[in-house]
Amino acid sequence: MTISKTTHMQYKRVLLKLSGELLKSNKSKKNIDHAQLQHYAEEIIKAHKLGIGITIVIGGGNIHRGNKDVLQLNRTESDHIGMLATIMNGIALRSYLENNGVPTMHMSSIACAMCDVYKQQEAIKALEHGHVVVLTGGLGLPYFTTDTAASLRAIELGAEVMLKMTNVDGIYSADPNIDPYAVKFDHLTFQDAIDKKLAVLDRMAFVLCQTYKLPLIVFDAAIPNALLRIIKGEHIGTIVSDHKEPNIYP
Ligand code: UDP
Repeated sequence: MTISKTTHMQYKRVLLKLSGELLKSNKSKKNIDHAQLQHYAEEIIKAHKLGIGITIVIGGGNIHRGNKDVLQLNRTESDHIGMLATIMNGIALRSYLENNGVPTMHMSSIACAMCDVYKQQEAIKALEHGHVVVLTGGLGLPYFTTDTAASLRAIELGAEVMLKMTNVDGIYSADPNIDPYAVKFDHLTFQDAIDKKLAVLDRMAFVLCQTYKLPLIVFDAAIPNALLRIIKGEHIGTIVSDHKEPNIYP
């Protein structure tokens, strides 16, 4: 596979937070729908061909969410199932990427026989060798989310930006599905997001981004080639950073 050299006009290392919900299809009623998996994996493959380091933290909300337990388990047990769900998604993503010629390392915060155990140095080595790194298991701890895992791993692995794919096209002043006057922000500072009480990310994930000055871009997963275009420097979605002006590069 040909991997082109990075140019100065693009990020060199990014972390993509892929919500488990994106793998689900209401049409097929499948929690991991092949067409959905293919769509996101192909977006990742296009971005990987730029020769940049890509880490994906994948959620599990398509299969189970600890705080919406329907099994009458206690929260810790329910979260354990949620974390295992992220591993299932990781197995599917790694398999698709590998089958399509992309060297991929799947590491989890939870030790199991299906993937490697997450180690910071091993993940960095894999990125340096041109592997896509898929991280699952969240932080391996209940009461946390994969948003928090994503911001922590982005910081640990030296990502320049955290990219959050969602099903809305950015951050709004209110829920655009409820409030017809909701306005979309192109750019916000961390402080703006706090002052406006915007639910940008989970609180803990947001605090990590702010404390360690990790910029965040929230964008619509449905926009064709969005990941590739953002990495190349196009302004899509909403940027949250320390800068007063929308500056996509750190
Ligand atoms: N989870 C957890 N600890 C973590 C990450 C995830 O307990 O560090 C559990 C939690 O129950 C969560 C579920 O795994 O609801 C799925 O993760 P998340 O909700 O973040 O997935 P997403 O919304 O991104 O699909």
